[in-house]
Parts: sequence; structure tokens; C-alpha cells
Amino acid sequence: MVQKETRSRELFERARRVIPGGVNSPARAFGAVGGVPIFFAGASGNRLVDVDDREYVDYVGSWGPFILGHQHPRVVEVLLRQVETATSFGAPCRQEVELAELVTGAIDGVDMLRLVSSGTEATMSALRVARGFTGRNRVVKFAGCYHGHGDSFLISAGSGLLTHGVPSSPGITPGTAADTLIADYNDLDGVRAIFETEGEEIAAVFVEPIAGNMGVVPSTREFLEGLRELCTEHGALLIFDEVMTGFRVAFGGAAEIYGIRPDLVTYGKIIGGGLPVGAYGGKKEVMEIVSPIGPVYQAGTLSGNPLAVAAGLETLRILREEPPYDRLEELGARLEAGLRRVTAEAGEEWTINRQGSMITLFFMPGPVTGYAEATLSDTELFGRFFHEMLERGEYLPPSQFESWFISAAHTVEDIDRTIERAASAVSAAVRGERRGVGAG
Ligand code: PMP
Repeated sequence: MVQKETRSRELFERARRVIPGGVNSPARAFGAVGGVPIFFAGASGNRLVDVDDREYVDYVGSWGPFILGHQHPRVVEVLLRQVETATSFGAPCRQEVELAELVTGAIDGVDMLRLVSSGTEATMSALRVARGFTGRNRVVKFAGCYHGHGDSFLISAGSGLLTHGVPSSPGITPGTAADTLIADYNDLDGVRAIFETEGEEIAAVFVEPIAGNMGVVPSTREFLEGLRELCTEHGALLIFDEVMTGFRVAFGGAAEIYGIRPDLVTYGKIIGGGLPVGAYGGKKEVMEIVSPIGPVYQAGTLSGNPLAVAAGLETLRILREEPPYDRLEELGARLEAGLRRVTAEAGEEWTINRQGSMITLFFMPGPVTGYAEATLSDTELFGRFFHEMLERGEYLPPSQFESWFISAAHTVEDIDRTIERAASAVSAAVRGERRGVGAG
């Protein structure tokens, strides 16, 4: 039995006294699966080592940034060099220009880029820009999409036909909630109906073009094309939140895969190569509204600092020089096929959604095209499966409603071992042999 008297448990008990819930971000708290979160001490390639010296194959990758695996030698080298040179100036530096040049040079429709320090900052800022640019207040977002913890995004769908949102957290004013309109993912008619009544007031439609925050749920082409048309027709901005998908599903993110150009795009995760960087960018005419050339204020003491930017810049350079996307697709397809075999052997009809190196196994018959369907998954079973996998040395995201991330550091052997372990984890989980659950 793992999760008994471990150093993780000791640390977690200390942490709970001084950090709310013992964690600095709720997603890592194991709240959805029970038990004690693992405290890690080291990482290399696709392996994690915890404070009890147990090793895991990592399918979280720090929630996305480590598309190249942990401690890529080139990234480590630039970081070491940068630490010896300078870590922050609060003034311009060469690296931030090079990062912005690389991204604007490679991605259609991103003429200018502003660097921030997290995905949340990127989305909050992009929404402010959209409001400033259009002179409108309202934003359309989709149930099940996550855009960081900005007030305007922590909104749930109102009841019945009411599309105006209600706060999904205390601390958000009803006024803020009223400006967020909630629609269903992949339901273009719903969005059309909102535009019919509120079209003149909508500043932006915010969307994860391939959702990762209700588990992986890709958009249909018609849906994204329809959003593009509706926004253009009504003078609203289409904002792709590619914090998770940017540089992950393709270098140019979902926008490249679907061939659809949003007005603004937000990045995080990979653009920082494991250090805190986010960014938002888009057409010059929109981005020129940002301070100091325009009136929309947005700032950051550590924005563009050379240390964080060095990790992101080197990561993006490697992705340009040696694109891993074909290989990631092969590994993803192999894992998907293996999980389908595991599902069939278990006599079940579970659903697997995948886009390249992002994959989710839902414990229910599909399809899963939006949030309402995703929530039908058997999350108790997921929790048991998660712990069975953990015991077998596989670190999956500790929630049903997340994507597993494959990295370029994973090998075919890793994937095959994961499939084998998934087969035995599934039978143990189905038998209901709950181990290590419920103690946290
Ligand atoms: N947008 C999306 C699509 C995300 O997945 C996330 C984080 N998971 C965010 C925004 C927020 O990013 P951060 O956690 O860096 O603030």
C-alpha cells in the first residue's frame, strides 16, 4: 500500500497548516481522487521522482509546459547561463524581443505579442483589450472551458434559458457575472441565439478551440467557423485561448489545425518552457490599443524577465528546429489504440478523446462533445483507476476533467508499458479494490 506513512504525507500535513488546503493551486490537491498529493523532488525527461524516491512516468508535464520533457539539456543550459548573467531587470532585454519575433514570425495573424507571467494574466488582459477595443462589456464563454481564475471567467451557466452567468465562486460581484454569457460548447445555435439578442453588446467570444479543461474535447470545424463568422458579422472579437493548445497540438496551436484566424490569442505553459510566462497577441490594430501606445492599461514587474523568457525561447526554438508533432501524434495514436483495447477487454464502452499528444479517457459511453456529457463520466471509477495507476508508477492528472500530456521524451516502450499497466489498473479499479483512497 502506498500513501501510508510517506514523506509526502508528512509534508502535506505541514503544508495544510500554512497553505490553504496544503497546495498553491487547487488542481494538484487530489481533491477529486482522494488521498494525499505526491510531493516531488526531481524530474528528468518523462520521469518524476517523489520525496520518497519513488519514480513515475509523467503524463502531467506540469500541466502542459513540458512538451520536450523535464530538464531538456538545451533548456537547462540556457537557464544556467542566464542565472549567472541576470534574472530580472524590470527593463527591456534582448530575449523578450527574440521570443516575440519568433512567435509573430511563425503564427499567422499574431502581429504583436505582449508577455505576462501566467495564463490567467494573459486571458484577463486579452479580455480587457477586447472591451477597450470594441467599447463593449459582455463576453461569451463556454461551459466547461477554463480561462484561468479572472473574475469574468469564474462564472457558471444560469438556470434554464437564462444565459447570463452566475458567479461560480464567492468574491465575484453579480455585476461582473452579468457581463459573462454562458453557452454550450460545440453548440453554434446557442451562440447564434445569444448574438441575436445581445449582439451589440458583446466584446468577445472566448473559447478553448480544443478544450482541455473538461477533459479533451475538440471543437467541430463548423463550430469554430461559425464563431468566426458570428464575431465578424457582429463586430465582436474572437479570442482563442491557446494556453494549453498553443505550441502543443501544432506549433501554431488549434488555429493552425483548423485554419481559422482569431482576433486575439492567449498563450501560457509551453511558451514559458516550465517557467512562468504567458502572452497575448493578435492583429496590430487591436494590440496597438495596449499601454503605453494605447489607452488599455496592462503591466507586470516581472513580465518578460530574461530567466523565464530564456526557458520559453529555447523551448520554442527546439520545437521549430526539430518539430516533434508527427512523433507525438504517433505516440498519442498508439496510446489511444491501446486504451481502446483495454476498454474492449474490460467489456466496456468508454470514450477516448484525443488531439495529438492530449488525451482523455472518459468512463462512460460517448460521445463527449461538451461539458454536460463530460460530467456523465464515472468519476469514482476514475479515482480508483488513478490510484491504481499511481501505484504502478504512472502519474496521471488527478482529475477526470483534464488532459493527459504526452511529451517528446516519452518512448514507444513507455507507452506500451502504460497500456499494460492501464489494463491491470482497470481490472483492479473495476473490481473496486480501492487502495490509498480517502485518507487525505
Ligand atoms: N487557459 C487555459 C486554457 C488553461 O488551461 C489554463 C491553465 N490550465 C489557463 C488559461 C490559466 O493558466 P495559468 O494556470 O497559467 O494561470
